[in-house]
Amino acid sequence: MATETLATPATLSDTQTRVFKNFIDGEWVESSSGETFEDRNPADTREVVGIFQKSSKADVDAAVAAAKRAFTKWRLVPAPRRAEIVFRAAEILIERKQDHARDMTREMGKVLAETRGDVQEAIDAAYYNAGEGRRMFGPTTPSEMPNKFAMAVRQPIGVCGMITPWNFPMAISSWKLLPAVVCGNTCVIKPAQDTPLSTFNLVRALVDAGLPKGVINIVTGFGAEVGTPLAEHRDVRAISLTGSSAVGRIVGGIAAQSFKHCSLELGGKNPMIVLDDANLDLAIEGGLWGGFGTTGQRCTATSRIIVQKGVYREFVERYVDRAKKLKVGNGLDETVQMGPAINQKQLETDLSYVEIGRAEGAKLLTGGHRLDKGEYQYGWFMEPTVFSEVAPKMRIAQEEVFGPVVSIIPCDGLEDAIDIANDIEYGLSSSIYTKDVNKAFSAMRDLDAGITYINAPTIGAEVHLPFGGTKATGNGHREGGIGAIDFYTEWKSVYVDYSDKLQKAQIDRPE
Ligand code: NAD
Repeated sequence: MATETLATPATLSDTQTRVFKNFIDGEWVESSSGETFEDRNPADTREVVGIFQKSSKADVDAAVAAAKRAFTKWRLVPAPRRAEIVFRAAEILIERKQDHARDMTREMGKVLAETRGDVQEAIDAAYYNAGEGRRMFGPTTPSEMPNKFAMAVRQPIGVCGMITPWNFPMAISSWKLLPAVVCGNTCVIKPAQDTPLSTFNLVRALVDAGLPKGVINIVTGFGAEVGTPLAEHRDVRAISLTGSSAVGRIVGGIAAQSFKHCSLELGGKNPMIVLDDANLDLAIEGGLWGGFGTTGQRCTATSRIIVQKGVYREFVERYVDRAKKLKVGNGLDETVQMGPAINQKQLETDLSYVEIGRAEGAKLLTGGHRLDKGEYQYGWFMEPTVFSEVAPKMRIAQEEVFGPVVSIIPCDGLEDAIDIANDIEYGLSSSIYTKDVNKAFSAMRDLDAGITYINAPTIGAEVHLPFGGTKATGNGHREGGIGAIDFYTEWKSVYVDYSDKLQKAQIDRPE
């Protein structure tokens, strides 16, 4: 990709450009203020991946107005036709997968294998939601009256607003946009300020697949300046946020003012339980992948490992030994296993938790330092970090770090492990390693989380199952699978009386 070209793209298919305007009503438009911001590579901050519009309420208003106009026609396009566009976008994304993965690694740092996975998740979501175009099932059910027909149909809601985080920049945009448009809604999306390019790449595939103008609009910028006005807008009938629980509280409060549908997918502090009878090789492998994949910057990251005392010492020794050997670096190098933190602020947070853990009396067994020499000098790198002897109530065991910092907590057995796992503000993902089927089923029932894995780490969700969590992880909605179709549609119950007389429900009945 050319780094010296600063031309503004005339069409969505120009991948060589570095200045991106907002995408409103099928047109590229500058922010009303004319201000921009830079998207820089966290592995090498000398590299500007793109320049994006620093937008404000006026830009949100223009995008919402465009989406509202587009809705009048889009809602009437038959769902299977809408879905065909999404299907074609999947095929386009397959062709562009390698390029989009490279863009994503440059924009947010995770290694190429993972950014390919992120693009693949958008492809999977496109195929799944394309299929929904011919389903979107609703119940038909007998009426209590004679000669009366009863059914419930799914209807689109209208203009939907989406606010996304940076850690799965294409996958999470796809989880929101694709079901929304298949259901007949129109959208305004505000991507995370650290990763707007991946959302542009997704939307470009949809536009190249034939999506009409105004159906999806992109407004880039910062949370309070773009996200808040989007959530507040009276014409936005549904708002979907994936982000931190702190921002979830703000957006949820705003949405309540105008009674809009509101889906909040928020933070996690995900436990992985390792019992004495576990396959230890497998558990160590899983714990490394879950703890340090995406540099620990997954909402589902395995940030707490709760290990039964019989295998605790061996697990800790072998886990730490492997963590020390992880190769940290620029994710564009295929041999690298862990990339940088997303930005300086996140790196500082990660390092501050090292100090917090130390001060609390946890044992720092490896890591804890910034890497800033030689090849690391221009990036936000940090060593993979492991604490042992962590007590369940310590802050490093309770608070979401969102970095490569894993806490290992000793436990007495299954019941103790589940108590520790559940005694936390969040409830996103969870996992258990055991060969005992009785214990596995008890854990499936008792772990208070939206997702439970057996003999796998806390990461690895697939697009066709519901995704989300309990407690401070969200407000009860789910993305993925049928959960998303439920969120992006409004039920309408329809009664057809063909008796030719007034029939009164609950009243015209034999006593
Ligand atoms: P964040 O909460 O800082 O930002 C998320 C989005 O909200 C960004 O687009 C941001 O610009 C916007 N925003 C910030 N302040 C806002 C405001 N006042 N009004 C409206 N919008 C605002 O989160 P992040 O740092 O981008 O992502 C990390 C967080 O996301 C972690 O807590 C992680 O657990 C969570 N996450 C959750 C899931 C899930 O599905 N549960 C998935 C990925 C990430």
